[in-house]
Amino acid sequence: MKDKTTPFNRPHMTGKELHYIAQAHFNGQLAGDGPFTKLCHGWIEEKTGSHKALLTHSCTAALEMAALLLDLEPGDEVIMPSFTFVSTANAFVLRGARPVFVDVRPDTLNIDETLIEAAVTSRTRAIVPVHYAGVACEMDVILEIARRHGLVVVEDAAQGVMSTYKGRALGSIGHLGAYSFHETKNVISGEGGALLVNDSGLAMRAEIIREKGTDRSRFFRGEVDKYTWQEVGSSFLPGELVAGFLWAQLEDAGRITHERLDIWARYHAAFAQMESDGLLRRPIVPTECGHNAHMYYVLLSEHVDRQRVISELKQRGVWTVFHYVPLHNSPGGLRYCRSVGDLPVTCMAGERLLRLPLWVGLSPEEQDRVIRSVIDVVTGVA
Ligand SMILES: *Cc1c(COP(=O)(O)O)cnc(C)c1O
Repeated sequence: MKDKTTPFNRPHMTGKELHYIAQAHFNGQLAGDGPFTKLCHGWIEEKTGSHKALLTHSCTAALEMAALLLDLEPGDEVIMPSFTFVSTANAFVLRGARPVFVDVRPDTLNIDETLIEAAVTSRTRAIVPVHYAGVACEMDVILEIARRHGLVVVEDAAQGVMSTYKGRALGSIGHLGAYSFHETKNVISGEGGALLVNDSGLAMRAEIIREKGTDRSRFFRGEVDKYTWQEVGSSFLPGELVAGFLWAQLEDAGRITHERLDIWARYHAAFAQMESDGLLRRPIVPTECGHNAHMYYVLLSEHVDRQRVISELKQRGVWTVFHYVPLHNSPGGLRYCRSVGDLPVTCMAGERLLRLPLWVGLSPEEQDRVIRSVIDVVTGVA
């Protein structure tokens, strides 16, 4: 069966993307904040309850906007997990701040909320929970710590579109939230993202920062009679062609999530026996978390050689990948950040986590082949 290969990811098109792009072309407005951008903003605000959604050209850009909004000074500290994508940290390092890493929870691999308070110092300004695999962090505890110490909470909800915590949309719970529409995520526009401004007091400055530091958005609403340079900013908005593409995806976000959840559930049932046999550990989703099936991963037992599993699966035409190389002992992490404690769970996840193909259109037959290959290879290697 080597003739057939199953990629790790295959971007899903809903079928309407080119239609909306043609419409944007016909509208004659290609710069940002046109009709499709407004549709996307409205959808996100309605779906999440966020005060204001602002499309950006990536989640990285949304995190950079968040860091600008915080008015950070060199030496200020931001608490986050080391088990995350580089942009979570980099956005704050760009402002001269220092990411402070704490370990993640063994069950969800999300920031361990019980370790946050001990990492707070007089320089701490913010906490950045990352909702790994679209499964929520323990937000009530995190918000309470932030309230006690006067900190801002910026959710890295890059993977969390359509996920919930106690019924609330991820990204809408902290002061600020960041979404990604990168093609490896669930709802996509190639490159793309959004900043969710949940604290209404930050909304006006967020618009200014996104529009090159000017009050151009207010000018277009007729609230001022000319627009001028107000403060430090940049160009963070996508054009209308990208927003048109994204609109086609947002319209179908419910179906996309359902189809992904079905595939996730099939993997979960298929690997129950291997978990009982001690060969791997399946993902754990706390009951208060409604997840979006962003990812299906397994944590291989320490006796299983992950690199061998990946290459033997590849020989069978099944593409699997590991995930984050922890930031804290990377060259950039050692240079710009500090850690509180040894981060043993982070190191474990960095070494033993394996992600399986999960994309809309993965047929049950093809998925069965993936499942059989994983069972054969992991059992053979153990
Ligand atoms: C994908 C991702 C990002 C970056 O998203 P971009 O849209 O590619 O900038 C940031 N944080 C996490 C946790 C991610 O998964």
